[in-house]
Amino acid sequence: MMKNSIYSLTFPQLTEWLIEHGEKKFRAQQVWDWLYKKRVDHFDEMTNINKNCIQLLKDNFVIQSMDTELKQESTDGTIKFLFTLKDGNLIETVLMRHHYGLSVCVTTQVGCNIGCTFCASGILAKNRDLSAGEIVEQIMKVQKSLDVKGEGDRVSHIVVMGIGEPFDNFENLINFLYVVNDQNGLSIGARHITVSTSGLAHKIYEYADLGIQVNLAISLHAPNDELRTSIMKINRAFPIAKLMDAIDYYLEKTNRRITFEYILLKGINDKEEHALELAQLLRNKRHLSYVNLIPYNPVSEHIQYERSTSDAIGVFEEALKSRGINCGVRLEQGTDIDAACGQLRSKQMKKRNIG
Ligand code: SAH
Ligand code: SF4
Repeated sequence: MMKNSIYSLTFPQLTEWLIEHGEKKFRAQQVWDWLYKKRVDHFDEMTNINKNCIQLLKDNFVIQSMDTELKQESTDGTIKFLFTLKDGNLIETVLMRHHYGLSVCVTTQVGCNIGCTFCASGILAKNRDLSAGEIVEQIMKVQKSLDVKGEGDRVSHIVVMGIGEPFDNFENLINFLYVVNDQNGLSIGARHITVSTSGLAHKIYEYADLGIQVNLAISLHAPNDELRTSIMKINRAFPIAKLMDAIDYYLEKTNRRITFEYILLKGINDKEEHALELAQLLRNKRHLSYVNLIPYNPVSEHIQYERSTSDAIGVFEEALKSRGINCGVRLEQGTDIDAACGQLRSKQMKKRNIG
């Protein structure tokens, strides 16, 4: 049987597990320190922990459950990692350098079943969910690669925007958030973490009820049902009115600003009339909304789409701004290394199939 990753456990879960197995409560803090502060790769390195406990941990858990298959560094400092999981599946993780810190984009599933027509991740249907540990380990692998450089760099921000629909792997996502946010561990601030969803409305209610301070982003991409359904089939299950109800609930409950992501696809959703419709849709939540305009990253499998011209992007942005909608155009990073969601992975999978 494959052993569970120790990174899957939140601090309270680790404490409970150790007590159940005859250990003292303080052991949990020691183990947690070795994992997240000293960031060891092997249980044997936990030198202040007695042999029996080390053996107990070894018998039940692993620390490392993935290997680095590929690491590509872009000229702008973006680093893309491709990891091989124990079952041979590939996932990708990206480290980006911003003026405000270092941010990591994590994957939550092997592939994605939502099947948005513009996305490289959906080309290969979902194979399985990642465990919480496999999501945490992506951060740990990136942080350890920074540790080796010895420059004191720390991952300060996380975006859950890699391959997969995080709300379709809800429980593991939440455990992941608790682990990376834990003050005795990596201590990455909730306000520095953003989860992006394609709009699973029922999960937005659940997320709001958790009372977690993590930011939420919604992949909206169209201002009306007809257009949205034509590019995102999830809109059939959760049409815009249902999605907006859930978002209103979230805003009411948390009073936290929400980000709407909007990919600009040339001639499809990038006309001024779409911007006006979008402004109308968001008018009653303007004060708590930010629209992130994303220039489409061409995906070779989706030849029907092209990136909007910079003129069209400018007109769209102005139309929103003049109607009081906060917005901005997302700067691109790592385009020379296929940093768009799922692209490196899909290339590597093709190579594997051919090779
Ligand atoms: N499944 C979640 C999170 C992962 S996708 C979601 O859809 O929100 C993260 C973001 O990347 C989403 O906003 C998604 O729409 C966007 N994206 C996907 N393919 C893209 C492409 N080819 N170019 C630009 N953005 C893309
Ligand atoms: Fe899945 Fe998000 Fe890609 Fe849609 S955009 S297919 S939900 S990863």
